[in-house]
Amino acid sequence: MDHIYWLLSGYCVAKTALMLACPDCDLLHRAAAPARRTMQLCVRCGAVLGRGRPATLDTALALYVTALILFCLANAFPLMTLRLHGNMREASIPGCVQILATLGWPWLSATLLTTVILGPLVHLVGMVVVLLQLARGRRRAWIARAFRILEEFRSWGMTEVFVLGVMVSYTKLAGMTTVKPGLALYALGGFLVAAALAMSSLEPRTVWEAAGVPEAAPPQASGGLTARRAGLQACPACGLVAPLAQRAPCARCGATLHSRKPDSATRTWALLIASALLYIPANVLPVTHVVQLGRAHEDTILSGVIYFLRTGSWPLALLIFVASVLVPVVKFVVISYLLLSIRFRSRWRPRRRAGLYRLTEGVGRWSMVDIYAISIMVAMLQMGSMSSVVPRPGAMAFATMVVATIMAVRSFDPRLVWDAMDSMPGLRPGMERGSLRGDEERPTGAGGPPSVILEPGNG
Ligand SMILES: [Zn+2]
Ligand SMILES: [Zn+2]
Repeated sequence: MDHIYWLLSGYCVAKTALMLACPDCDLLHRAAAPARRTMQLCVRCGAVLGRGRPATLDTALALYVTALILFCLANAFPLMTLRLHGNMREASIPGCVQILATLGWPWLSATLLTTVILGPLVHLVGMVVVLLQLARGRRRAWIARAFRILEEFRSWGMTEVFVLGVMVSYTKLAGMTTVKPGLALYALGGFLVAAALAMSSLEPRTVWEAAGVPEAAPPQASGGLTARRAGLQACPACGLVAPLAQRAPCARCGATLHSRKPDSATRTWALLIASALLYIPANVLPVTHVVQLGRAHEDTILSGVIYFLRTGSWPLALLIFVASVLVPVVKFVVISYLLLSIRFRSRWRPRRRAGLYRLTEGVGRWSMVDIYAISIMVAMLQMGSMSSVVPRPGAMAFATMVVATIMAVRSFDPRLVWDAMDSMPGLRPGMERGSLRGDEERPTGAGGPPSVILEPGNG
């Protein structure tokens, strides 16, 4: 038999199926396109390799257009209206960006501009253009390159976290003044639903394949189970498999190729230490200076949590505590542990460690919620000497800390966890010790379509 078949849902696998390298563990798979409404999981680490989406390109296009319209409305109308001492004040999202820049807080203004306006806007407009081209049957080389850049913009868009920040600032402002929600809040709610549907309707692999550049990888790999051992490397953006010796950028999307992220451990340690050091001033120093009816006080992250507890908003207190205080600590501990386990070539349950990595990858962005809440309060509450909110150095330390932890997680290469396993004598790289003893979970495919691991020496 040429190959070991892991039949995840009882289908047979065509030998002409696409070759994929798992982005999290580098294991090579041959997988047919996933069937509708199924997920294709890596048999070794459980990473999602592909999803069979029920929607067509036309449906995805319609959803992206809807999301774009709602996003424009969310930016055109005011977020909320404030009434204080007979004064009325309202601001839209671009208005907040402008107010923060004119008040002399360019870093808050830039954070809001990049993650709430530019990230989603470039992604949405670009996706509409790309999907229009594909829906008209046009296959152009630039589509794949554009799609890679759009995916990068998408990863820096944090509108869902911003909406939570709006809720936090709204609750705080309601305790100080009379505040009414604006039309933009409803549009933002609609946008979140439309954007979530649009993104879940489209499998990135569909776009990569539809972009029309043929699979440039050698048709058959020989001598390895992981891409690296087979003399291959997978493109970090589009997953196209290329020879390991290739120095030129990816033939399909133009991304720089590397078998492992360069200097991953060193970079991750540096970013992690920097963010751990910033965590101290971020929590000790005040994040805002608030003047309310002529009386001034300073708030730290924790005093904000206590404020919500005192006023009975315990869900918000819990949210801020988890997102701002707990999540960064969990990230420091998990990433340090993963780095140490790689340093000492640990072989303890790599599948668990891969799961821990994916967890930290998913939760990191939610720490931005307090920064958004502060930005909105600063932009909204500027009523002369009677009432105002001004950011303090703690907020800058906090924002920098969050960005540094997000970058630390991104610079970490999860494939390093599995490299120690691959060098174990007498153990097939598709396995780990626990699974040989039978006390580790068997690979499951959640009803997904079939995929194949390439065995060493075969091909
Ligand atoms: Zn994997
Ligand atoms: Zn690529």
